[in-house]
Amino acid sequence: MTLATGRPFLMIPGPTNVPEEVLRAMHRPAVDIYVGPLVELTDNCLRDLKTIFRTQGKTFIYASNGHGGWESALTNTLSRGDKVLVLDSGRFARGWGEMAAVLGLDVEILPGDWRKAVDAEALQARLDADRDGAIKAVLVVQVDTASGVINDIARLRKAIDAAGHNALFLVDTIASLGCVPFEMDAWGVDVALTGAQKGLMTPPGLAFVAANEKALAAHEHADLKTQYWDWTFRLGEEHYQKYCGTPPEHLLFGFREALDILMKEGLDASHRRHRLLGEAVRKAVNVWAKDGALEMNILEEAERSNSVTVVLTPGLDPAALMRFCEETCNVKLSGTIGEINGLGFRIGHMGYVNAPMVIGTLGAIEMGLAALKVPHGRGGVQAAVDHLTSAVSE
Ligand SMILES: *Cc1c(COP(=O)(O)O)cnc(C)c1O
Repeated sequence: MTLATGRPFLMIPGPTNVPEEVLRAMHRPAVDIYVGPLVELTDNCLRDLKTIFRTQGKTFIYASNGHGGWESALTNTLSRGDKVLVLDSGRFARGWGEMAAVLGLDVEILPGDWRKAVDAEALQARLDADRDGAIKAVLVVQVDTASGVINDIARLRKAIDAAGHNALFLVDTIASLGCVPFEMDAWGVDVALTGAQKGLMTPPGLAFVAANEKALAAHEHADLKTQYWDWTFRLGEEHYQKYCGTPPEHLLFGFREALDILMKEGLDASHRRHRLLGEAVRKAVNVWAKDGALEMNILEEAERSNSVTVVLTPGLDPAALMRFCEETCNVKLSGTIGEINGLGFRIGHMGYVNAPMVIGTLGAIEMGLAALKVPHGRGGVQAAVDHLTSAVSE
């Protein structure tokens, strides 16, 4: 018996749901790349990216996934042999560090705990000990999609300042930009990067990078630069240079539409929507968790992301639950990855997602828990509905 026929729910932490308007904006003939509407579109996307990153710095658009954004941030600011400090909090921070090592950087991991946010005091202590300033950059992920944590970027900046350290501060906002507050300039972030396919509601294939004055100054003497990622080349006058080749036209048309959707809603309203939907998911999980069959991966409520929730499942087979949700309800969840591979599931609630999508997803999971005879607290969906109701009635 299946109830799956109907609109599929893609509730994974990326790629995320693409609005019909974005898909329609892409369905059009190719255009000239040297003159006309595309040139203007590049300018206004670069400008609106500054609004979203909250920076007066320079912005760049790459035909790449998020890993390309990582490579851009590293190669444009650092030199072979430079030491970088990676703040571990999940699979993605480590992955960025692995890339840095392959590029010839000297990578040190500040040990973390996959169930907690990065410890700002440990960062400060490590930087205090680095008296000769060997560490050239600190790499951190705002939301780590593997653990479900949100790191306090402003607080980490304060730790760097308290140590009086001069390292560049590089931040991955791939699973957070557009979903949770991010203040590149106010928080003293030197390079921020993101991808199109998570909070920004666009098909995969675009990465966005923002750099402030300090990062652009470091760029002058960085020796890891390569032509494709090179900021200097991309800051040239020719439209062609802005993409180091043919622009990814159709993705840009789609992205423009997605930006319009986001800006029409308003960044603050989007953050609030993500917060309430994230809270609703956590309310439900906490009810289900009563008998210990499942639990939140991140231990502290304040460190749980509003864009993705990672649930550990000591008392059930997560693959069976995910299979039920997909085959019976057409709701696609994601497995856990990295150190906690196979030990739970992830619910993506970022980007183009609203209350009925989240309530429906929670309903499918609650059906699955009952169908698989997993001991769990009843009424998780009700707790989510109650929470959203009181929030919208305020
Ligand atoms: C998805 C994700 C990435 C990787 O992005 P790709 O587009 O797959 O290269 C990196 N960091 C975070 C936090 C992510 O969520």
